[in-house]
Amino acid sequence: MRTRYSALGLVRRGLTGAPWPRAWRRHDLSRTYDVVIIGGGVHGLATAYYLATNHGITNVAVLEKGYIGGGGSGRNTAIIRSNYLTPEGVAFYDRSVKLYEGLSADLNFNVMFSQRGHLTLAHSDSALRTMQWRAQVNTLQGVDSEVLDAAGVKRVAPPLDTSPETRYPILGALYHPPGGIIRHDAVVWGYARGADARGVHIHQDTEVTGVDVVDGAVRGVRTTRGDVAAPTVVNCTAGWSTLVSGMAGVRMPVSTFPLQAAVTEPVRPFLHTVVVSGTLHVYVSQTDRGELVFGASVDPFTSYSTRGSLEFTEGLAAHVLQLMPALSQVRVLRQWAGLCDMTPDFSPIMGITPVEGFLVDVGWGTYGFKAGPVAGETMAQLIATGKTPDLIAGFDLARFADGRLVGEKGAAAVGH
Ligand SMILES: Cc1cc2nc3c(=O)[nH]c(=O)nc-3n(C[C@H](O)[C@H](O)[C@H](O)COP(=O)(O)OP(=O)(O)OC[C@H]3O[C@@H](n4cnc5c(N)ncnc54)[C@H](O)[C@@H]3O)c2cc1C
Repeated sequence: MRTRYSALGLVRRGLTGAPWPRAWRRHDLSRTYDVVIIGGGVHGLATAYYLATNHGITNVAVLEKGYIGGGGSGRNTAIIRSNYLTPEGVAFYDRSVKLYEGLSADLNFNVMFSQRGHLTLAHSDSALRTMQWRAQVNTLQGVDSEVLDAAGVKRVAPPLDTSPETRYPILGALYHPPGGIIRHDAVVWGYARGADARGVHIHQDTEVTGVDVVDGAVRGVRTTRGDVAAPTVVNCTAGWSTLVSGMAGVRMPVSTFPLQAAVTEPVRPFLHTVVVSGTLHVYVSQTDRGELVFGASVDPFTSYSTRGSLEFTEGLAAHVLQLMPALSQVRVLRQWAGLCDMTPDFSPIMGITPVEGFLVDVGWGTYGFKAGPVAGETMAQLIATGKTPDLIAGFDLARFADGRLVGEKGAAAVGH
């Protein structure tokens, strides 16, 4: 085990000046592993962590072409919630929220999960109907969600303009108290540190350039640091996932779109819940440091570019001011973009593929950070037992050929 972080340890090192050990180590790339995981985001690292922790499988490599968390996992707006629309989605994301609730203690790493509540605004009768639908599906599965009227919205989020004079008046909202935000870097680093402590090798600057398949079964991968043999290879590369699956000859109905976000200068805390408006294509939360974090829908074209655009900031500012006119003087500090692997039904693709031993955990679109823990837990279970856990059975690749889509667009588009 690695050094435990504790208040006492902090004081001791403060007094002695002793250096902190590296949170995860560098290793030579072995020529064989039991499991190779491609992609060092929250999904790849969580899968490695649960393989080692829950199943004792530690001869595992996580191969990351850049630095861990450099993909969507370090670029997202960190919203966690489970108020989805389908029974499959609600049960799955609810398990993830539960894992997140215990994650700081499990990882001995403060992930700063702040369950401050999540409001999805309704600006039309049909949106209110969808909120009612979601509230009922959620309640049936024991997830805390209710529909509020405009006065209720004002009580939960006083800075919102709930007057009927606005262009799109707020008629009500779906209120989800367990939802909130988290420190995404801490989650990535915590899983990396936990996996490393149990013997997993994390290889940064190691790009997978090919996947070896012989007689319909995976044999290993080719990388910029040499070839690696492995009977199990897991694709956790989100925005790049079609490229990696393509190396194994597996086609997937995934398209990659950029998604942008922006953050303002810090201001005194005034917004104590996450607010999402699908109609206005915008969402906002306030960090513990006081910055406002804004996001929207994906850019309207497929691309692997992560450049920001002025159109995005202009549209965002206009929409945010419709919700909270008082923000007109607040300055945007920074904007950025990440890649999102969108599926036709806004649900992930998890599990086996036609190539034996080549597994996928992809299709995370704009909403996959919150799924990191449960995806890691269930993928590790699948690898260790060879059986697909019930929780992810509905997210199989074969559903697109069989016409069994898990339609989450009503709960996952702007909501993330
Ligand atoms: C702006 C923005 C806001 C978002 N907001 C939210 C939100 O509020 N809540 C939420 O739940 N989700 C959100 N998301 C989505 C979320 O960030 C992603 O779904 C999630 O991080 C995916 O995690 P991952 O581990 O699967 O992939 P990633 O974190 O993208 O990791 C994949 C990794 O694979 C690596 N890789 C790619 N190709 C190769 C290769 N050939 N060899 C080796 N490595 C390779 C990449 O470098 C990358 O580090 C948002 C996304 C963005 C961009």
